[in-house]
Amino acid sequence: MPSARASRLGVLGWPVAHSRSPAMHNAALAEVGLTQWRYQLLPVPPHLFAETVAALPAAGFRGVNVTIPHKEAALAAAAEATSRARAIGAANTLVFEHGRVHADNTDAPALISELPFDPAGSTAVVLGAGGSARSAVWALLDAGARRVGVWNRTHARALELCAAVGGEPVERPSGADVLVNCTAAGLENPQESFAQLPLDEDDLANYGCVVDLVYGEDETALVRAARERGVAVLDGLALLVAQGALSFEQFTGIDAPRAPMRAAARCTAEDA
Ligand code: NDP
Repeated sequence: MPSARASRLGVLGWPVAHSRSPAMHNAALAEVGLTQWRYQLLPVPPHLFAETVAALPAAGFRGVNVTIPHKEAALAAAAEATSRARAIGAANTLVFEHGRVHADNTDAPALISELPFDPAGSTAVVLGAGGSARSAVWALLDAGARRVGVWNRTHARALELCAAVGGEPVERPSGADVLVNCTAAGLENPQESFAQLPLDEDDLANYGCVVDLVYGEDETALVRAARERGVAVLDGLALLVAQGALSFEQFTGIDAPRAPMRAAARCTAEDA
């Protein structure tokens, strides 16, 4: 059981004001009776990241989540890291224990656990070549996917990603068991994702399942078009809850209460 003193948690990002993690984790802390614990926003610019992390344990922090643009710096700040965080090259969870910083990446197992099918032997297309695409490609290959194609707006970055973690760069995606959108297309306006992606709505029928990491107040155009065509979908909020639940379990040692986390994340999304 974690000590009473280590009762602070948070999320470091820049910017981070719109993160749903505080609502989600505070709902979980209340549900499991950790009433002295608080999870807070920690807006930290890149040049202050390392010194902030170093100061957090003495300030009563048990652990933190890390988001854009700090995930690579988080791995670098840790004395210990899981093999998946090292292989991906980025961490989204830091736990402070016995004066040491331990890093993990819960985005990868969250994707695999939420997929509505076993990806072993399957084919996949990942859109994007940033941090979350890196994690998705690694996770799918680690789970036994037979082929993972990677498309990115800037093709050179797709080549770099595949050289680092695996996968095959593609000029144009043409169908697979699963499509995973890890681009920020649709982030500003979730209704406009298609204008920025190498697909149109009817192409989605060539996929068995569509995963969109982007989430917002309403379902994204990608998720809506997939649903309309009877394609299985996994949305960004479900992934947010899944990665948060895995982090929560590392912070507290207690099974995460996913239903209140999901409700809090969705409620905040509707307020956004
Ligand atoms: P990065 O900044 O590392 O990567 C951004 C990617 O999006 C790059 O591949 C970039 O391409 C591409 N991109 C950006 N703008 C456009 C555009 N207008 N059209 C096409 N491609 C574009 O971000 P992350 O990988 O960390 O995150 C990507 C998305 O996933 C974000 O929307 C983020 O909010 C979401 N996310 C959701 C999570 C969840 O739990 N649901 C977890 C993590 C991320 P290029 O290389 O050409 O610039």
